[in-house]
Amino acid sequence: MPLAESAILRAPRVTVLSRPAFTDAEHLPVQWMGESTDGERLAEFAGRLCYMSQRNPANRSTREYLGNIKKQGHGSVLEHANYSLLFEGISRSLTHELVRHRAGFAYSQLSQRYVDESDACFVMPPAIMGDAALEAAWTAQVTAALDSYVALVDQLMDRYSWVDDKVHRRKMAREAARGVLPNSTETKIVVTGNARAWRTMLELRSSEGAEFEIRRLAIAVLHVMQAEAPAFFDDFSVYMAADRAEAARVEYHKV
Ligand SMILES: Cc1cc2nc3c(=O)[nH]c(=O)nc-3n(C[C@H](O)[C@H](O)[C@H](O)COP(=O)(O)OP(=O)(O)OC[C@H]3O[C@@H](n4cnc5c(N)ncnc54)[C@H](O)[C@@H]3O)c2cc1C
Repeated sequence: MPLAESAILRAPRVTVLSRPAFTDAEHLPVQWMGESTDGERLAEFAGRLCYMSQRNPANRSTREYLGNIKKQGHGSVLEHANYSLLFEGISRSLTHELVRHRAGFAYSQLSQRYVDESDACFVMPPAIMGDAALEAAWTAQVTAALDSYVALVDQLMDRYSWVDDKVHRRKMAREAARGVLPNSTETKIVVTGNARAWRTMLELRSSEGAEFEIRRLAIAVLHVMQAEAPAFFDDFSVYMAADRAEAARVEYHKV
């Protein structure tokens, strides 16, 4: 079966699912200054508690205060602010790399054992995009792989027809048939991380050494997070690298 154009994905989709909701502690009021989001205020509150400096003697805005925290490398206060993001339109090879980031992260990913992949989408590697011959070759390969998957699921359902529990039988078929699906198969994943963890991941994965697809995702996440909580991410700057793809560098390395 030819693959529908809509089944070929060329960009990730990033959705913010959750962000901190900060509540002032009435008995420990902080002299807030300047604009800030809840996540930023939470980190400032935590940082100020260490020295009981709620009166804000240096008259720093939240963003100035957190800028100093990053400069001093006191990143542990950033760990209080957690953000959950939904990633779609990304490949299984990307998530294989993503889930290597352990400290401060939680993951929940679409299961290829339970979910039918007969209508799977495929993420075209950025390095292939824009070259008609390469795109055609790649599309032919993933189409053949999907056809094999569909055929294998059918054959395995027959082979295990004696298994009464249909849910279990489907799982047996899908978990074996997924072996022929390529790394480019689209997946979906919910990733929760604290701001310090996101910074480490973004530093590594938005750099020029990172693989193109995860680098593209990291740049997309960076834009989202710079809008969510500028004070946590405003020392990252995006630039066009020599390989003609966007990359980012960070001022305060691994705070
Ligand atoms: C360009 C690039 C190429 C890569 N190539 C490969 C490859 O070929 N093969 C491969 O297997 N991986 C590869 N990786 C993955 C890499 O080795 C790391 O697993 C991944 O980048 C996560 O980094 P991390 O461990 O620092 O992150 P996290 O697990 O998020 O940890 C963050 C930080 O917490 C601390 N930390 C976390 N866990 C521990 C611990 N158990 N003990 C002590 N300190 C800890 C460390 O300071 C660590 O840097 C590559 C990564 C990149 C960016």
